[in-house]
Order: sequence, then structure tokens, then C-alpha cells
Amino acid sequence: LFHPVILFLPVLSTILTIYVGGIAVINGEITYGNIAEFVIYINLLTWPVASLGWVSSLIQRAKASMKRINEFLNTEPQIKNPSVEPFNAAGPIEFRNVSFTYPENGTVALKNLSFTVPHGSTLAIVGKTGSGKSTIVQLISRMFDPDQGEILINDENIKNINLFDLRSQTGAVPQEALLFSDSIQNNIAFGTFRKNPQQDVSLIKEAAQNAVIDHNIESFPEGYQTVVGERGVMLSGGQKQRISIARAILKSPKILIFDDCLSAVDLETEEKIIKNLKQIMKDKTTIIVSHRLSSISHADQIIVLSEGEIIEQGTHDKLLDQKGHYYDLYQKQKIEKQKSGNESSNGMLG
Ligand code: ADP
Repeated sequence: LFHPVILFLPVLSTILTIYVGGIAVINGEITYGNIAEFVIYINLLTWPVASLGWVSSLIQRAKASMKRINEFLNTEPQIKNPSVEPFNAAGPIEFRNVSFTYPENGTVALKNLSFTVPHGSTLAIVGKTGSGKSTIVQLISRMFDPDQGEILINDENIKNINLFDLRSQTGAVPQEALLFSDSIQNNIAFGTFRKNPQQDVSLIKEAAQNAVIDHNIESFPEGYQTVVGERGVMLSGGQKQRISIARAILKSPKILIFDDCLSAVDLETEEKIIKNLKQIMKDKTTIIVSHRLSSISHADQIIVLSEGEIIEQGTHDKLLDQKGHYYDLYQKQKIEKQKSGNESSNGMLG
């Protein structure tokens, strides 16, 4: 109602002035000049009064927005930094009888889980959707605290260690790549060069090479300065995933976590990335959640999860010998791979 009323009132006042003034002129009380005078006054007054109304409506809107912003700003994080002591994450990661239930809906995600990842080794986690793989990796970067049991990194309970150090030494690539409407260079540098405006471009390029995305980036006319997102180029799911992998690699973390972040990357590229990782992560700990067993076969340890519990654990060869869930899954994927291979070669013949 506000805008129409503000526009209508000056018009109404002018009509009223002319009408009432006209009657007064007829009765000989005022002159024509007086009417003209009043019409000019109304015009002079219109905008100051309208802007008063406009400002008061702006204040109302700002008040409503501020209330929502304050709700967000005043939210206390549940996980707080318990220590300012420097922490070195270069050590084993150990889960001791860890159980976790999501408080929002009571979903029991992990049940009494215990395992150790020695420093510098690679752990692969496989399992059906909803088996708790993401929950494990989120617990490592302390997004939540377990309900029972404890998680130790470098022999210290993560509840007691410097949260900032833990997170700055952990490079986690989530399932859903999160890119900002900014240049590719800034997207890769996000989180690493926060304090240093002088970004080291050669390091960014090296990270992109290791994530096998450098050729794609260089094929864009503006290269690393290409803006992504709504205002720029639209990237494919696999390209986004590889940019967020480059971001994690650039951080040179002591613990690298891949949470099913290669799902949209083709097999050949995935194998190249894994090969590069082996080189980069030589003395560091890597945790990979993946659906493709072929790309995790090199892992030092593989955990098969089902409904929040470890059902099988061991190396690729050991798990194949066991002829259990892992073996079944491996055979299934092997047949699928052969099928798709046959289809593509038939296609080529056709
Ligand atoms: P995976 O990574 O193996 O697919 P998740 O760790 O994401 O499994 O999920 C384990 C279980 O926890 C699932 O049943 C899922 O529905 C539930 N879950 C995951 N994230 C949340 C959340 N943020 N809030 C509530 N429940 C969740």
C-alpha cells in the first residue's frame, strides 16, 4: 500500500487545494494567486514528507533483517576451541569405541567403532550410502563430538587439542564441492593464502596439476582468472570436484580426507589423481571414501562399513581372499566395468 499511497497523496492534496481554494475564490475570500501559491507549497512539501515515510519503511525492513542476522551472529558454536597450545597433527588417528547419533533426528550413525590409521598411511572407507562414512570423516575434523568413546590424533584426544591447528592441518574435500563466485585462482587459494595477499601462483598451478584440472583451466580464455559460478563459467561436477581437491592439496595438510569427492570424475582421471596423491602424501595420512574399489585397492587399510559398524577390515588382497562383502562388491564392479568396456568398443565398431 505504501508506494501507491505516497504517490496518490500529493495528487489528492493538489485537487483538494484547487477545489477548496476555488470555492474560497468564488466567495471572494482569497485570490487566484493564493491557490497557485498553495499548489507550489504542496509540491515543495511532497518529497520531504514522502522521504520521511520512505525512511521509516526502510527502518522497519532493516529491523526485521537485523533480527535474523543477529539470530545467526549470536549462535554459540557447540564445538569450541579448548586450547591455544600449538598442536601437530602428524601422528596416528585412532577411533576408540566411538558411537555417534545425530541429535536432530536420532539417527544412529556409528556404533562402537574402533580402528587405527598409522601416521603416513592410507585408509579407505567403503560401504553403502548411509553406512556412516561421511560421519567418520566429519568426526575427524571435529564437526561433531562423539557421544561415546574417543578419537585420538597423535595420541591426544581431539576434544583437548587446538581446534584451529587441527582444522588448518586437515584438508577435507567434501562430497559436494563448494565454490565461490570468484576466480578459479582465488577458489583454489581459499583457506591457504587467507593471511597472505601475495598468492604464490606457481604453487596454485602445481596443486591444479596434481588434481588433474590444469588443462581444463588453461583451456578457458582467462585461465586461472576465469570467474566461476553464476557470474562466470559453469563448470561440470567433475571439474568442481577437482578444483576443490586442488584447494585441499594446496593446503599441504598433514591429514587429507577425500569424502567421495571423485564420484563425478572419470575413472582414468581418478586413477591419475590417486597416483599423484601417493607422491604428495608420502609422509602424510590420507583417508579416502570411495565407491570405486579399483581406485582404493592400493590403500594400506580398507574398512567396509554397514549401518555404522565395521563388517570387514584389511588390505585389498586380504579382503578379496575373505570372499565376503568386499569381494562381492569387487566382482560386481568388475563385471560392470567389462560391460561398459564392451559397450564402448561395440559402439566404436558400429
Ligand atoms: P554415508 O557417508 O555412508 O552415506 P553418512 O555418514 O552420511 O553415510 O550417514 C549415516 C547416517 O546418518 C544416515 O542414516 C544418514 O541419514 C544420517 N545422517 C547423515 N547426516 C545427517 C545429519 N546432518 N543429520 C541427521 N542425520 C544425518
